[in-house]
Amino acid sequence: MQQNRTELETLGEFGLIKHLTQYFVPKHPTTVRGVGDDAAIIAPEKRDHVVVTTDMLVEGVHFDLIYTPLKHLGYKSIVVNLSDVYAMNAIPTQLTVSLAVSNRFSLEALEELYSGIQKACDWYGVDLVGGDTTSSRSGLVLSITAIGMAAENRIVTRAGAREHDLLVVSGDLGSAYMGLQVLEREKEVFRANPQAQPDLAGFDYILERQLKPEARKDIIELLQRLDIKPTAMIDISDGLASEILHIADQSLVGCDLYEDKIPIDPGTIKAAMDFGLDPTTVALSGGEDYELLFTIRQSDYEKMKGNPSLTVIGHITLQESGCNLVTRSGTLIPLTAQGWNAFHNDSGG
Ligand code: ADP
Ligand code: MG
Repeated sequence: MQQNRTELETLGEFGLIKHLTQYFVPKHPTTVRGVGDDAAIIAPEKRDHVVVTTDMLVEGVHFDLIYTPLKHLGYKSIVVNLSDVYAMNAIPTQLTVSLAVSNRFSLEALEELYSGIQKACDWYGVDLVGGDTTSSRSGLVLSITAIGMAAENRIVTRAGAREHDLLVVSGDLGSAYMGLQVLEREKEVFRANPQAQPDLAGFDYILERQLKPEARKDIIELLQRLDIKPTAMIDISDGLASEILHIADQSLVGCDLYEDKIPIDPGTIKAAMDFGLDPTTVALSGGEDYELLFTIRQSDYEKMKGNPSLTVIGHITLQESGCNLVTRSGTLIPLTAQGWNAFHNDSGG
């Protein structure tokens, strides 16, 4: 990778921006002007509301370049923002990318980062319309802002869940966290013995879920096709338990979540066992799954029944009942942001 190394200072700030953004051609009908002016120009359709979300990613805090290829980092940094837009039941349309970068990074390294950003923009149909570029003393900081649009009556917040609504989740949970555990383990092995070959065999799915997550654009489209408008929705970035508590908090409701209904991939279960972790705990507290968690009216159940991408995992109760995990044995355990109370007592290896 270091065969070609062009120092950033040889291009200067404007040359660098031009070089990195040269292949980004705005395609979305609402983009009037993208990169290159003092500000981008966006023309939303009259009936639409605009949603805006930002995420900052700091090297050493949110990502580790020892096992994260820069192209994957670029892709993932976009995906995590788009996931927030989809969680509003909106369609992402534009984004900006700001970066602080030290001279440790070459032009070729930033090209890799931007190739991942471009891949995500192409796949999700979003335009890169601006950003900012500055130097950093150490490491890489990425700040992404995503803009999306939806008809006012389509937008879904965290606040609309009502008693008797069904709690539904897309995909499966816990895999991204187990992917991270495998990568961290191999990093330690490599530290102890740089000659050792990483042992990643059989972990393809969970590694992909950690390194190349996708935002559930398909689920938003599916819900539209099924004519289901969730009553509340959130994306799962921090773990199922904490996201359920956010919905309950903002909707002023309680919730019963059934342990045996939580969708977990067999490979994730196996990896959790290998690491001495309880798969339920991993799904509840793992994070970075970027699945959608939402509530629907019971009358919408028939429309989604049998869809393999959607699982009913519980239902909404009154606020007085609190948020509980109903275990396989039928015991009610209060959910906490860390998962559930047993997390600190008898799980965790
Ligand atoms: P200004 O000095 O007016 O802030 P800049 O020189 O920072 O302008 O940016 C020039 C143009 O390039 C603007 O359209 C800006 O949005 C865009 N831009 C700057 N940095 C980036 C980046 N890292 N990625 C994408 N676009 C960028
Ligand atoms: Mg600027």
